Order: sequence, then C-alpha cells, then structure tokens
Amino acid sequence: ELSPAALEDLRAGLRREYEALRSEKLTLDMTRGKPAPEQLDLAAAMLALPGNRDTTAEDGTDARNYGNLQGLPETRALFSSLMGAPPGQIVVANNSSLALMHDTLVYALLKGLPGGRGPWSKEEPIAFLCPVPGYDRHFALCEGFGIRMIPVAMTGAGPDMDAVERAVADPAVKGIWCVPQYSNPSGETYGADTVRRLAAMRAAAPDFRIFWDNAYAVHHLTAERPALPNILDACAEAGHPDRPIVFASTSKVTLAGAGLALWASSLDNLRWYLTQAGRRSIGPDKLNQLRHVRFLRDDAGIAAHMERHRDLIAPKFAAVAEAFAARLSGLEVARWSNPKGGYFVTLEVQDGTARRVVALAKEAGIALTPAGATHPYGRDPHDRTLRIAPTFPSLAEVRKAAEAVALCTLLAACETGPA
Ligand code: PLP
Repeated sequence: ELSPAALEDLRAGLRREYEALRSEKLTLDMTRGKPAPEQLDLAAAMLALPGNRDTTAEDGTDARNYGNLQGLPETRALFSSLMGAPPGQIVVANNSSLALMHDTLVYALLKGLPGGRGPWSKEEPIAFLCPVPGYDRHFALCEGFGIRMIPVAMTGAGPDMDAVERAVADPAVKGIWCVPQYSNPSGETYGADTVRRLAAMRAAAPDFRIFWDNAYAVHHLTAERPALPNILDACAEAGHPDRPIVFASTSKVTLAGAGLALWASSLDNLRWYLTQAGRRSIGPDKLNQLRHVRFLRDDAGIAAHMERHRDLIAPKFAAVAEAFAARLSGLEVARWSNPKGGYFVTLEVQDGTARRVVALAKEAGIALTPAGATHPYGRDPHDRTLRIAPTFPSLAEVRKAAEAVALCTLLAACETGPA
C-alpha cells in the first residue's frame, strides 16, 4: 500500500541497516537442530555410569559381552511409555534412530516386509508420501534409494488426510513419513482425527508402512502435554497392526552422539526386523543401555530431565518469537510458528524470497538451512519456507541472529515488492 517513493525510502533505510549488520562481521549458525553444550552437560553424570562393578542386567545378561539384539529388558521397560508399546515390542539399539529408519527401509527394499509380495526393489518404482514442510534427512533417504517422493501439505494438525487417502489408493505408494509430535520443522502435533484416518485408511499396497518418527516425544517447551493418540493401538484396532513402525531416540534427551535409538512395532514386524538386524550385528552396546537406565530411571526421571532442557532452550525460542514479532508483526510479509515443543521454528517469508533471505543472511554471516531443504528434492514450489534452529547457539547469539533474519526477510520482501 506504500507509494513508490515511500517504498523506495523504506528500501533505502533497510539497506542501510543491512550494511551496518554486515559490517559487524558476525558468524552465527542457525542451521542444524543440535543440543547446545549446556544441554549435553545435563547428562554429564551419566558418563560415570554404570561403573565397573555394575555390568549385569536384570535377566543375568553380562552387559559387557555380545548378544541381546533386542536390547536389555530394563531398557525396553524404561522406554515403554515413551514408545507407546509393551517392552516385548520394542528394540533398543545404538545411537541414531535415523540409522534404524535407514536399515528398515533397506531391509524392505532387499527382503520385503510381512504381508508384502517381495522386495520393494523388485516392484515397479515405489513412492513415499512426504508431508511438507518436513525433515530433509527423511527425504535424503528416499532420494538416495530412488524412492519417488510425493509431497502432501501439512494442515496444522498433521498431513492433509484427503490427499493422503487419495494417494494410498495407488499400490506403488508404500509408505509415509510422519513426525507426529512437534513436527520437524512446523512444530505441529497430529490431531486425533488425523491419527484415526491414518490407521483406518484403505491402502492399496498390502505392505504399506507408516514411518512414525516420534523424535520429539518428550521434548516439551511449555507445561502443556499434547494428546497424541497411540498409533500402534489405533492401527491394531483398525485391523492394520503391521502398518506403523515407531522410531525415537535419546539423542536430544541425553547425548546426541551417544544416545540410544528406539524401534517399536507389531510382533510380526519385530520378528522380521530382528531377523534382518541379526545378520548386521551380534548385539548393541548394552553398557550404554545400563548407563541410561541408571541415569534416567523411569518416566518421572525422563520428565524431570527434559524440564532441565526446557529451562535452557525455551528462552531461545522466546527470543526468536520476540525478534520476529518486533520486526515483522502486522506487515503481511511473513508468518512463523510458535512451537510448544521440538527443535525448530518455521518462518514463512513472502513467496519467492526464501532463497534471497538465505543469501542475504549468509552475506551478513548468518548460516541458515538452505531454502527448499524442507521439501522433497529441495524444491519449495513457493520459495517461502525457512527452518530456524535456535537450540545450539547461545541466547545472545540466537537473539542477534533472529533480529538479523527478520531484517533480511523485510529487505527481501521490499526488493521484490508486494506478493
Ligand atoms: N528424526 C527427526 C524428526 C529429527 O529431527 C532428527 C534430528 O534432527 C532425527 C530423527 C535424528 O535422530 P537420531 O539422532 O536419533 O538419528
């Protein structure tokens, strides 16, 4: 609504501010959702556990030795409510749930799944549904293995289920990626109706699977607790017990490089998975499993530990929200999420300017995740979505970076003119 002269004035003013920002020669990194060093320090005491005299598990397993592919009973019990599965349906593995997703996908491609017609790699080219914005490493797995990706829009309560239900009528569609709670990067949590429809929908592929990556199951930023329905129960009740495979890890609970990865599904899927995994390894690091059991103890222990994380990172999310609101509110050039958990803020800038915002930020010394990373093949058709990761830098750095990103967002919008 500005006159050309007023717009020019605004642009010139923002440009001056931007040049001043550039002259500060910042080096800030808002790219990856990593815990800050102080968050890792919260688990410092864990490194002294279990100690050299405490190496026998409840079932008599010598945790120092080979074996116990499924994980120790007490470790599986510890994560039973986090996973929403009885201990008997859980696998506890070494660090990185992404590795478990990779392996599950590779075993499906090479060996086929229970209920299927054989290896996925021997079928016509297969496809996965990819809710967008989504997690770039999920998309990289599909791309790396030649699995076609079909974007599905997120709605605020999970993926657009009308689109999902239509898409799964095609037998080539074998799976869907879901980050059901505090989704990466939108922060949204799936609604009860979304979960019910995912469980009940008629999928043409008999071996259709939901990759339920509950990476942020206990990662709350407020006192609220979302009521995410249990996907294993919902699918079993709908007559599709083998449909979901649940993944999680303690990467952002204890140590991102030395946590435990968690896998849960039906008993048929579990037997299938352990048969494949048993060729890959004789057994996981059970000392790390005991270490986690001794340190976290139970659900209350996990919850208390996550509150300490919240104390450290909630102020960083608040700083981003404040900086964006101060600069961008009411201007209709951007929208952003105010997540109640998880690790990310989504910033939607004016259409066609996301790449430009990233380039402007880069020139000013602020590394942002590349525009497009939130979409399959790196293609955001609107060039609009940016993922902000505020956990790793210090609070002062986060505030500075968020103010700078807001300035770059405004400047990019001004350069382009109204959408
Ligand atoms: N899944 C999601 C949705 C994530 O955001 C991340 C890390 O950012 C991971 C998985 C990685 O998990 P892990 O450290 O267990 O491999």
